Amino acid sequence: MQHATCVCGNRLFFENTACLACGRTLGFVPETVRLHPLEPLGNHWHPADSDGHTPLRQCENRHTAAACNWMLPADAHGRLCRACRLSRVIPDQAVPGNQRRWHTMERAKRHLVYGLLRLHLPVEDRDSTGNPALAFDFKEDTADGTQVLTGHAGGVITINIAEADDDRRESMRLAMGEPYRTVLGHLRHESGHYYWERLVRGTGWHQGFRERFGDETADYAAALRRHHQTPDEHWRDHYISAYASAHPWEDWAETWAHYLHLRDTLETAADLGLMVAEAEKYRRFRASNTDFRQLLGEWMRLTVIMNSLARSVGAPDTYPFSLNPAVCSKLEFIHGAVHAAGMED
Ligand SMILES: [Zn+2]
Ligand SMILES: [Zn+2]
Repeated sequence: MQHATCVCGNRLFFENTACLACGRTLGFVPETVRLHPLEPLGNHWHPADSDGHTPLRQCENRHTAAACNWMLPADAHGRLCRACRLSRVIPDQAVPGNQRRWHTMERAKRHLVYGLLRLHLPVEDRDSTGNPALAFDFKEDTADGTQVLTGHAGGVITINIAEADDDRRESMRLAMGEPYRTVLGHLRHESGHYYWERLVRGTGWHQGFRERFGDETADYAAALRRHHQTPDEHWRDHYISAYASAHPWEDWAETWAHYLHLRDTLETAADLGLMVAEAEKYRRFRASNTDFRQLLGEWMRLTVIMNSLARSVGAPDTYPFSLNPAVCSKLEFIHGAVHAAGMED
């Protein structure tokens, strides 16, 4: 995550709607993939920290529970920004607790979309090329006992909004024996299924995928049943998580989520000056394919720092995973596929 600086010199964070030092209105501009301090321009706004005078307006979800701080071009079609437009179903806002749950979901979703835009991945909300468009359904279990299953189908990511409740998510984490369970992690995982369809299926990357992740034509339902009945005890030798060992699609999605964790966290560290020499390399990512093994070395170093800092304040490890050689090879493969996709747009 890149941070921005207000015209008053104060550091600004991704979720801010106003500068906490000078009160100036802020807005995230997806076209520049940056948060900007804003200046009024007639009925609209423009970035106060750049020369361009492109009129912008605020996403209509700014004043809803979504608390969206994203902007859209003043002449754009529709009322919502590029991130908010992706939500097809939002939870009933009249139900107590649902405003908070939806807020948590949209906040994590904007973070996900930020990372996708930074990697130059396609994030269209319309199906213009025959490819499935990315969309989100935030649903809740119904009174008649129908459960909402978190998952992906045909470009639609469904999330059970109960995942926004800390007590529920934590009890699920313990019941499933997971070391880590977050809303952002869910969204990144599910986005992996979508991008597998976009970047891998039927492309030049498909054969390489099968060599590293396995044959995805294996019966998915049977594979999941087998995973829940007799989990692979040796998953640590080949996978990032136990769930990744269930089926090649889940292996891809789990590893994809880690790739997004890695890129975003390294960018944050570089931006905050924790890795001064690296900062310029990240800025130039578009120009040349950053050597992934070097990124990985930095990531290993950084996760030791993250976990040690967490222990110092008595918190659980921030990154409770270890990367084996097979996982490193899969991450490198994803890096190649992401970079190739990003260069095409
Ligand atoms: Zn300020
Ligand atoms: Zn929005």
